[in-house]
Amino acid sequence: MTWHATVLTLFPAMFPGPLGASLAGRALEEGLWRLDAHDIREHGLGRHRNVDDTPFGGGAGMVMRPDVIDTALAAHRAPDDARPLIYLTPRGRLLTQADAARWAKGPGLVLLCGRYEGLDQRVIESTGAEEVSVGDYVLSGGEPAALVLLDACLRLLPGVMGGAGSAEEESFTDGLLEYPHYTRPAEWQGRAVPPVLLSGDHGAIRDWRRDRAEDATRTRRPDLWAAHLSQRMAGRRSPADATGSVATASAGP
Ligand code: SAM
Repeated sequence: MTWHATVLTLFPAMFPGPLGASLAGRALEEGLWRLDAHDIREHGLGRHRNVDDTPFGGGAGMVMRPDVIDTALAAHRAPDDARPLIYLTPRGRLLTQADAARWAKGPGLVLLCGRYEGLDQRVIESTGAEEVSVGDYVLSGGEPAALVLLDACLRLLPGVMGGAGSAEEESFTDGLLEYPHYTRPAEWQGRAVPPVLLSGDHGAIRDWRRDRAEDATRTRRPDLWAAHLSQRMAGRRSPADATGSVATASAGP
């Protein structure tokens, strides 16, 4: 079954946007995934198709009405739709590579993009939408966040990425940032490529890359490094628990 993304937004023209180019765009043309983006305003109220109203309790900005969102969802998502429903919001938990890997294995996603101050809390609760953030900053709308989330999933779909092995070695896949990369020329502006990479010794190259990945993670992302260390300790205590999934991958040597 084709991986299927449905997006509810006030700006459907933003889709597929950058996902219409490069690998994702080719995969879209080839039918490896499909996308439909729907205008929430079509379900707005009255002559002006209003989708928002002032916040109870006062304060700045407008809030997207729960009844409008509910009607829009009902129009574009069947009651038995098995796809996870996600509301993009800075209040959500942070998107991870493990999320992308899990969602890429499923049937697709339904994404709700907010604008203004966001959605009325009651429709988030009544629909059971997962609240997901793409980072600790505030965007003006959920659309760029939806594009980021979809891109992270799409490149993991079978047949989308050219080099089959490249996703396995990437940052986050085993809880580490990736090692640095080098290409020709071997010397550039007085900077030489690390000699081990020219040695042809695959074992030494693997060890060097592993060391650089660990160094980068320890110095740049202490949070990931701490999680990696506890994962490694857990793996040592109980090798049978290291299942190889993205979230619980064995830490290796
Ligand atoms: N009032 C909200 C707050 O302070 O949490 C921010 C609303 S923002 C201006 C409008 C919409 O952009 C949100 O409803 C959400 O859909 C989207 N958005 C903004 N930042 C986001 C982020 N970091 N991750 C995911 N979605 C985001």
